[in-house]
Amino acid sequence: MSVAEIFETMEYGPAPESAAPALEWLAQHSEGFGHFMGGAWTAPGTLFLTENPATGKVLAQISQGTEADIAVAVAAASAALPGWKALGGAGRAKFLYALARQIQKHSRLFAVLETLDNGKPIRETRDIDIPLVARHFYHHAGWATLLETECAGYEAVGVCGQIIPWNFPLLMLSWKIAPALAAGCTVVLKPADLTPLTALLFAEVCAEIGLPAGVVNIVTGDGSTGAALVAHPDVQKIAFTGSTEVGRLIRKATAGTGKKLSLELGGKSPFIVFEDADLDAAVEGVVDAIWFNQGEVCCAGSRLLVQESVEERFLQKLQRRMETLRVGDPLDKATDIGAIVAPIQLARIDELVKAGVDQGAMLFQPKAACPTTGSFYPPTLLTGVSPASVVVQEEIFGPVLVAMSFRTPAEAIALANNTPYGLAASLWSESINQCLEAAPKLKAGTIWINGTNLFDAAAGFGGYRESGFGREGGKEGLWEYLVSSPLAPVRVPREARLVGLGGRNLDQTAKLYIGGKQARPDSGYSRTVLSPTGESIGVVGDGNRKDIRNAVEAARAAAAGWGGASGHNRAQILYYLAENLSYRAAEFAARITQQTGQEGTDEVEQSIAQLFIWAAWADKNDGSVHRTIQKSVVLAMPEPLGVLGVACPREQPLLGLISVVAPAIALGNVVVAVPSEAHPLSATDFYQVLETSDVPGGVVNLITGERDVLIKTLAEHDDVDGIWYFGESAALVETASVGNLKRTWCPKPGTIPRQDAFLRAATQVKNIWIPYTDELPW
Ligand code: NDP
Repeated sequence: MSVAEIFETMEYGPAPESAAPALEWLAQHSEGFGHFMGGAWTAPGTLFLTENPATGKVLAQISQGTEADIAVAVAAASAALPGWKALGGAGRAKFLYALARQIQKHSRLFAVLETLDNGKPIRETRDIDIPLVARHFYHHAGWATLLETECAGYEAVGVCGQIIPWNFPLLMLSWKIAPALAAGCTVVLKPADLTPLTALLFAEVCAEIGLPAGVVNIVTGDGSTGAALVAHPDVQKIAFTGSTEVGRLIRKATAGTGKKLSLELGGKSPFIVFEDADLDAAVEGVVDAIWFNQGEVCCAGSRLLVQESVEERFLQKLQRRMETLRVGDPLDKATDIGAIVAPIQLARIDELVKAGVDQGAMLFQPKAACPTTGSFYPPTLLTGVSPASVVVQEEIFGPVLVAMSFRTPAEAIALANNTPYGLAASLWSESINQCLEAAPKLKAGTIWINGTNLFDAAAGFGGYRESGFGREGGKEGLWEYLVSSPLAPVRVPREARLVGLGGRNLDQTAKLYIGGKQARPDSGYSRTVLSPTGESIGVVGDGNRKDIRNAVEAARAAAAGWGGASGHNRAQILYYLAENLSYRAAEFAARITQQTGQEGTDEVEQSIAQLFIWAAWADKNDGSVHRTIQKSVVLAMPEPLGVLGVACPREQPLLGLISVVAPAIALGNVVVAVPSEAHPLSATDFYQVLETSDVPGGVVNLITGERDVLIKTLAEHDDVDGIWYFGESAALVETASVGNLKRTWCPKPGTIPRQDAFLRAATQVKNIWIPYTDELPW
């Protein structure tokens, strides 16, 4: 037999990992698991079963958490909070370090248990999931140590409710628990009902290392247990990973409660292969993008976009590679693709693939047989699809790749962004210029260059658009668990006294300001503005939905130009605004006095100072470079959100406008602002300053009228990317934002957020992974 023939016929022998230690651990709990609360286990309650998806066999009996269980767990977390905070970062670091060490000591047990419960191959749980879990605890032990200096002025948000899915059960737990504990929070975590086992083993590890009682509480159960956790009034922060559908429910349920929220939701991530890519490397990339973890990955590269000139060759190579993928026993070390988590998910995958084929997709699956017992699905490639096909639009969450071609890089970007999601994207080209040209144009929170599915505790992860908001990992992720302490009080003007009206009792009809032009309100109605003594001092337009739509359209048209301008350019314009405002300081001060009865000079001075501050920041919000454990550097680039709807504070009509509009535009956003409803004349005067200061049309749009009506329209608008609301009705804004899951920021009424809070609210971080060897010259 020749060497070539040996290679042709060579088969792997079985290489099974023993399940015995994990089964033994399960046998010790044969009467069923209770919940872990306040450092102790409850007796098992109403039980449900968790099964091994590879065999369908029952693994364990799990308690269904009730509202009462959640109440006990939250009480335990609340009781533990003061002590845990008081321990200080250095004290907490020791526990995080101990957790990391203990997970490493039990690493094989964790890996086998995860494979049994979830169906993913042991090769992945052993080499990827569990090492990354330990890495998260180590990394965050470091953040705990550094917290007091690196995040000075901030403190733990409080008790956190954390809800995780079934695709990376222990890894998602570590992404949630490690930063929370580092920040000084205590947690109640609910694992997915399909995969609760490693969370329960983790609870034992918490007890083993002597973690103070109540710092970590694990309550098992289904969606209703999660909903009870979301609803509990003593939970100050919800962190959720899962489907966009449930993410929407949680956004609604938390609206107006003041709870902090981070959502890591679904995706339909593009995998873009340019014609100059190393095609063989890119084929291996596809394998990691969509067949890692059976494709049950929120950021899976599930949409392959290949340049037309290499499409045929690439697909042939890919199909050849697919023939060599081994689907089967997840405990076999030579298995590439394990079992789908549960029959219900298998049925969903099958249904979506059939729908795609019915719509004309061509199906390719390798010849090798899939196991017929258990929940298995073969690696699948769908070609001949159109951008509107169900399989191109919907998250399948299984080992199914859809492929399309493109002719030009511009077309690739357009296709890549043609989804409501924005979690990740992967770019393949031997030209770094090509990749770095494309990366900023992709609407996604993570971009991998010549790589895919790379994760590390040092790099933030999270989505744009309907993939959710907030970041997990790195310093970006820490902010999710912190609040400013103490809250800065509203600054009272130096001379808050009623003064004369300065004889400016003019009767003017101010207009709206849209797209750089003064515009009459669509409603044809006006609102009379009154002085503090009830006299009419002017008339402003009463804006309506149509005006808001026009303003959003104008803002959108300006967004690319303004967001793409250099920080230096934006700074110049902000300085120019300051200069022009200072020429008219006396007039603006008199106007403030006329509207509010308060001396206005100080407010004008503060407004000019704000313009200077934000001009300074315009070219200094640098972002950072993360060093990960992979051979990559990660550029963490803060990008503007895009079109921001802003409801300005009622008080201090000029300062309230400028101190929110200036940071928004300094950081590259375009704004539709609703000025103070009671005192709108400072804003309508200010558009004359905008007009004379080279602010491009559409960058700042001002719509006067009833604040909450106008901001609700903005919050509901699908082409608005974020809302800042300085008022008392946060619930209104947060509920209305659920349509496209836009980011909302509703600081507590009566507080002025810190500058760094503005910087974070005005931007979202895109993490761009670039191959980098990090080899030193000596
Ligand atoms: P879900 O979003 O339903 O589940 C995620 C977590 O939320 C689970 O712990 C779940 O509990 C819990 N949950 C469910 N309903 C509620 C609720 N009303 N309030 C609070 N918590 C709740 O995802 P599924 O597991 O049902 O998966 C469905 C689809 O979601 C998948 O096919 C996939 O497309 C997507 N998905 C995306 C993930 C991602 O990482 N982006 C991860 C998982 C799924 P329980 O599971 O116990 O019912």
